[in-house]
Amino acid sequence: MLRSLLLYLSERESPKKLITGNPLGRRLASRFIAGEEIEDALRVIRRLNSEGFLVTLDCLGESVREAAAAEAACQTYLQLLDRLAAEKLNSHVSVKLTQLGLAMDEGLARRNLARLAESAARHHNFVRVDMEGSAFTDATLRVFCSVDAPREVMGIAIQAYLRRTEADVEELLKRGVRIRLVKGAYQEPPDIAYARKREVDRNYQKLTEKLLASGIYHAIATHDEHLIAATESFARAHSISPEGFEFQLLYGIRRQLQRVLIQQGWRVRLYVPYGREWYAYFMRRLAERPANLFFLMRHLFRQ
Ligand SMILES: Cc1cc2nc3c(=O)[nH]c(=O)nc-3n(C[C@H](O)[C@H](O)[C@H](O)COP(=O)(O)OP(=O)(O)OC[C@H]3O[C@@H](n4cnc5c(N)ncnc54)[C@H](O)[C@@H]3O)c2cc1C
Repeated sequence: MLRSLLLYLSERESPKKLITGNPLGRRLASRFIAGEEIEDALRVIRRLNSEGFLVTLDCLGESVREAAAAEAACQTYLQLLDRLAAEKLNSHVSVKLTQLGLAMDEGLARRNLARLAESAARHHNFVRVDMEGSAFTDATLRVFCSVDAPREVMGIAIQAYLRRTEADVEELLKRGVRIRLVKGAYQEPPDIAYARKREVDRNYQKLTEKLLASGIYHAIATHDEHLIAATESFARAHSISPEGFEFQLLYGIRRQLQRVLIQQGWRVRLYVPYGREWYAYFMRRLAERPANLFFLMRHLFRQ
């Protein structure tokens, strides 16, 4: 219930003002967010690269409602790709299609994604399309599949909590697509998504095995130690080398686990978000771990 409430609040304006305007809200968010400016993010990437982590950089923002905002987001990503190349940083970019205009005009989102893919190809870099709530699943897959880019340049995130996902994975594998497998971070009804953690985890493990067996380079994105251990065992049992796939984790979450994975010789990419539009992202992180929320509430109402 608490998870549902937090995900509901993540889309509302008044709690947004309360939390983003409060110094403690900002301080707690800074655990998960690299900063509000591009220079903050580049500094964090430099440090993470020097510690052996790969990165994927997300300029926060979603659900834009004006063409000008979609154009601005696209321009920002183009600049990011230029900056990452100029500074020789080891970082992909991750983008939400509603940030590129999907909620207004599918064609606009497609054209913007094609521009990012073209720039990524020129820089030998990679664009990952994040997956959003189920209202956008079909459109996201449609736009992604309609952009003609080599598989080394563009991939997509897929959510294990959706019942449809196994069929989507089959289709994407036929096309040779590089997939980031996540559990899923949005509020979804039980007729389309598994509600119980046990069911989501079972599907996640099944899909992980399908991805690793495909021979395509995929990303296993979770902080769940059981699923990570199961992935490691499967890889070893099937002689899949650490270069054959990567683990992905979110910046600021399970930092000790992140370091252990690197020490064990696995490839680890951290998802690093930055920017002023951090509220919705932050609320999804609170929803994943309510202990974070109790800490925030205690301090917010004490002030
Ligand atoms: C690299 C990356 C990219 C992602 N991209 C997307 C995407 O495109 N679309 C999408 O819907 N979702 C995305 N997600 C989020 C994902 O769907 C889950 O909501 C999130 O990863 C939590 O699930 P989990 O797999 O870590 O497992 P869980 O079972 O939720 O967590 C396992 C353990 O990890 C720790 N943990 C998890 N979350 C937190 C937290 N917020 N704070 C502190 N500890 C925590 C806890 O110890 C918990 O017991 C992404 C996640 C990652 C790692």
